Formats: sequence, C-alpha cells, structure tokens
Amino acid sequence: MIWNQHIECMSREAMRSLQAQRLRETVNRIHTHVPFYRQQLQQAGIRPEDIKTVDDLQHLPFTTKLDLRDNYPFGLFAAPQQDVVRLHASSGTTGKSTVVGYTHNDILMWSEVVARSLAMADVNRNDIIQVAYGYGLFTGGLGLHYGAEKIGASVIPISVGNTKKQLQLMQDFGSTILTCTPSYASFLGEAIREAGIERTRLRLRAGIFGAEPWTAEMRKEIEELLAIQAFDIYGLSEVIGPGVSMECPMQNGLHVFEDHFIPEIIDPDTCEVLPYGELGELVFTSVTKEALPLIRYRTRDLTRLHADVCECGRTLVRMEKCVGRSDDMLIIRGVNVFPSQVESVLMEMNETKPHYLLIVDREHNLDTLEIQVEVEDQFFSDEVGELEALQQRIHQNIQSMLGISARIKLVEPRTIERSAGKAQRVIDNRKL
Ligand SMILES: [Zn+2]
Repeated sequence: MIWNQHIECMSREAMRSLQAQRLRETVNRIHTHVPFYRQQLQQAGIRPEDIKTVDDLQHLPFTTKLDLRDNYPFGLFAAPQQDVVRLHASSGTTGKSTVVGYTHNDILMWSEVVARSLAMADVNRNDIIQVAYGYGLFTGGLGLHYGAEKIGASVIPISVGNTKKQLQLMQDFGSTILTCTPSYASFLGEAIREAGIERTRLRLRAGIFGAEPWTAEMRKEIEELLAIQAFDIYGLSEVIGPGVSMECPMQNGLHVFEDHFIPEIIDPDTCEVLPYGELGELVFTSVTKEALPLIRYRTRDLTRLHADVCECGRTLVRMEKCVGRSDDMLIIRGVNVFPSQVESVLMEMNETKPHYLLIVDREHNLDTLEIQVEVEDQFFSDEVGELEALQQRIHQNIQSMLGISARIKLVEPRTIERSAGKAQRVIDNRKL
C-alpha cells in the first residue's frame, strides 16, 4: 500500500520543483531566525535570494554535529520556545548531548513520514503494533508511536526491555507487527525459542527495525527466528528521528522522503557532490522543519543513492543500507559511542593512561563492549582489592559518559600495542 500516492509517485521534475520551493522557504527561515546560519551565509557570500533551484544547494555551507553541540541547547532553533511542543536529545553523552526540537507541525510531518514508512510494510488499521523501541529522550519509541496511530493501528507502547512481558503481551494481545532495534528483535527471537513458545501462538507477520546498522545475514536470522518479513527503517534525530527513509517490499534500498529531506552524497574528504550510484557520505537538508531546520547536515553514514523508478511504483530516490561511517562513531546497543569519549574519561583519572582498546562483539545477539585500559605503573599494585576498586570507578565513569555499561579490563602498562600511525582503538568483531 502507498500511503501518499501523490508525493511518493511524483515525477522527478515535480519533485525537484517542490523541493526548490521548500528549500527557498527554509533558507529564508534560517536567515531570518538563526544567527548561526545568517553568519554562515554571510561568510559564504550567499544571499537567500541566490538560492533558486535544488542545484544551488551545493553552494550552501554544511552543518555538523559539532555545530549542534556548540549551539547547545537551543541555539539553532528557528522557532520561538512557545511554539516548540517536544524536545528530544541524543543518548550517550551528558552535558554535550544533541538537542532537537519539534513544533506542532513538525510532529504532524513526522507522523506522516512514519505512516508512509509503516505502509511500506503494509501496516494498516487491523494491525497491532508492539513498539519495543525505547520511549524517552530517544526518538525511536515516540516516532513510531505517532505514525502508527496516524495509520490507525493499535499501538502497544511497551518500550524496550522487560523481555518476559514482551513475550506475554505478544501472545495475549496478538501483536502482528514488532518494531525495535534489530539486535533486540534477535534477542526476542532467541527468548521465544528458549521459552518454547509455539509459533502458532504468535500472530507476528512483519518487523520494522532500525537505529543501528545490521547486515543481510542478520535480517535472514531474524526472519527465520521470528518467522516474519523484516524491514529496514532509517533515521536520525537531527533530521527528524525514524522515518527519514524506509524499505518497500522490493527491499532494494530505502526510499527517502525527499519532499521533506533532500539527500546528497558527497566525497567526505573534498566535500564535492557525487552523482547517483557513487559511494560517499550522506547529507540531508530538511526543507519543511520549523523548529530545527538543518542545512546540509553531514550524517557521516556512507551509502549510495539511486534514482531509477522502483518496481513498487514509488519514484522517491533510494539509498542503500549504510555500509559504514566516515568518522569513528560506533553504534552499540543503539547508543552512539565515540572512542574519544572513553579517552576523555581516562585522561581525567590519575590512575590510568589514555591508552585503551575497545572490543565490540555480539553475544547472543546483544552488543557487548569490553574496554582494556592501561594502568599507571605506581597504581598497578598486586593488591587485588585496590585494582578491583579502580576497575569499579572506571566502570562507573564510563557508564555515566557513554550511557551504556562496559566490561573493564585493567592491563599492565605498555601492553596495548602502539602504532606509528593512527592508533587502533577499536576492534569490532560484529561483522556489520
Ligand atoms: Zn520501492
């Protein structure tokens, strides 16, 4: 089913003309209301009236996560506080989290793109959708929730965790759709198998999974475990949250809702715009957001775009599943983790050296993180109790910085391999 036939099957020319009109409005909006962008445009020597078509997008400056942090919390907002009805923030970091805001119209638009996404998996008002994404500052839970209500499905806002209850409600309420991170889907699948629940007691038919990278192998595994069709949904809070793009039943890429988010692929080193089909960094300009419109936001996700018409009938461009990052960010259990955050924790502690190694793995389909830390000579005593206390302190500091728990392993000074070039800080064994 196609939720918005008019937009999703629009000709390329009509789409480009709609994008151009909305881009002009957005550039005017940020120039008027956001001092940061006014200054950026001035520095680049661009007046709002210079932006006429989508091709003019390439003259505009980029926005990065650092710009959001520098303007924490509301510095990039283009709407007054009394018009902002919702705030979300990125998980993981403490004082420097990325804050995003939504006006009432932004929430309506978000519900619309999530409704379009759900319709791609044929979700309709007869469905019972178990939303096992986290509810809270994270955009996953509430994002899916509003879109599912717009479609008229029955929403179970169970949030993440409490696996026993998930399985119970899945059976008692007859959930037909599951939505959560792929790793949690896989974990639930294992739990169903372990609990010996007969598949005939479940009505599940499809799953919509995102917020972390997952492979084709993982899709196959989830589809077998849960006996469902698994769909990939993509989004990031800076752009809107889940619902930036979504897979249709052809599963040959994710359709981008480009009437709201204009995608570009750039060379991450030269920042030059690359043609369709070439691998590069994905960049989005949100052209209908009121509270937080972002110009050429660098996602750091690496992928390709394709513009040929899909067999499903949609003309929206498709992006391939993201193949990696142009920075060193890791996504562990749905949380964004930068090795530099670990480094800053260790730098602040006297007992440790900023030499460390992050080992990421996936055990029983849940991400695990081990951090090996070198301890200063004078602290590497043989007193087991003291070392355990130190290990505990590092564990706590890391947890409060990253927002996730890690296994801390103390190692003797100079045991972590040094390299002449860029130090290897991460071993990711998850085969993403
Ligand atoms: Zn399609």
